[in-house]
Amino acid sequence: MVVTRFAPSPTGYLHIGGLRTALFSYLWAKKNGGKFLLRIEDTDKARNSQEATDAILRAFEWLGLEHEGEIIYQSNRDEIYAQYIKQLLDEGKAYRCYMSKEELTELRESQMANKERTKYDGKYRDFDGTAPDGVEPVIRIKAPLTGEILVRDGVKGNVSFQAEDILDDFVIARADGSPTYNFVVAIDDYLMGVNEVIRGDDHLSNTPKQIVVYEALGFDLPMFYHVPMIHNSEGKKLSKRDGATDVMAYKEMGYTPASLLNFLVRLGWSHGDQEIFSMDEMQDLFNPKDINKSASIYNTEKLDWLSSHYIKNTSNAELAKLLEQYGLILTSHDKKEILLDALKDRAKTLKELAELTNEIIVAPISYDEKAVKKAFKEDSIEVLNAFGAKISSCDELHLPSDYHHLMEDVVNEMGIGFGKIGQPLRVALLGKMSGPGLDNVMAIIGRDETMLRIANAITVHS
Ligand code: GLU
Repeated sequence: MVVTRFAPSPTGYLHIGGLRTALFSYLWAKKNGGKFLLRIEDTDKARNSQEATDAILRAFEWLGLEHEGEIIYQSNRDEIYAQYIKQLLDEGKAYRCYMSKEELTELRESQMANKERTKYDGKYRDFDGTAPDGVEPVIRIKAPLTGEILVRDGVKGNVSFQAEDILDDFVIARADGSPTYNFVVAIDDYLMGVNEVIRGDDHLSNTPKQIVVYEALGFDLPMFYHVPMIHNSEGKKLSKRDGATDVMAYKEMGYTPASLLNFLVRLGWSHGDQEIFSMDEMQDLFNPKDINKSASIYNTEKLDWLSSHYIKNTSNAELAKLLEQYGLILTSHDKKEILLDALKDRAKTLKELAELTNEIIVAPISYDEKAVKKAFKEDSIEVLNAFGAKISSCDELHLPSDYHHLMEDVVNEMGIGFGKIGQPLRVALLGKMSGPGLDNVMAIIGRDETMLRIANAITVHS
């Protein structure tokens, strides 16, 4: 069974790079009928916070990415890690190192002066003397100091590291007994049964150390997939300046989970030239072997394009529900269908859709000056009066076509062009020149509100 996991460090919000690897891990588990697990890597007490953990969980909930079983918190697992430290000490695969901070600094400095790689020199590797006074030891693992460490990586191929270039007997427990990052990651992945690790390639350089831990403890290695980073259009690592990196900011901006997940799945993964993927399709088609070997480029226009596509293709009932987060209660609006049909082609985001909706259902509080200048001619008040009178003489006005016929009547009776009524009416109803068809607008706001807005505009502009 394929078991994957997402293992965020709760140091802030969930960023989109993290979400992308979470999505890849989720899809791969789902595709194989396996398990997607969640582990919170919260051992760094100075940098981790409960708020950050909550923010990550909220983002997962918003996106509908469900993990299997209990969330594992590394901060609860000290006893487990301590057992493995003891095991390695008992087996002679790890040892106490009494080197003082000063000694270590001296060693580093002399290595740097000699232009050597800085590394621990193994002083206490085979030490069997009496421990020096006053130094709380750290625990170091006996790492292979020569030979090859091979990372089997489904994205990068086999990546070979030479032990002498990168390893030393690294610390697995600090002087206060707390275990170190690479040690606990390897133990947790093993104990959680994770056999396919999909994560950012900024972790590739940690992998040899984790492999040393796996091997020392006799654990089977997982398959690794190190996913290249997301870059901005200048080819640099994505940063806040390139747009939002906090997943929840995308919610604020009005993107739907479907569009954000579709956007992310295509950052670094492709299936032919297909761009639109439903969640079912993603699950069917995703394979980490198809992850690109090079960095992917973040492109806001693409996200907007996808978002427009999803808004256009979302049912009005669903859109009405999604708009509730903007305080818009359309579910029982009798002209919800006309309203959303008129607007869903025009909005890139739900937020824009909410703004466009408000521009119709809320009466204008002012009139755009340029629009007034352009639209109001000498006879405009007369035309609006005539149209207002027509409306007030008809009780049964419901459909856009009902209003359209009345506009046609005025145009014919007064012998004027359509613009003569359309332009001032548009300003009267919406306060500006843009917006959807007026017959739709009037059907949406209804007969009484239409008359009210016309009367107001007449008062203001007479
Ligand atoms: N906690 C690490 C991070 O947030 C991920 C570790 C991993 O996936 O192995 O970058």
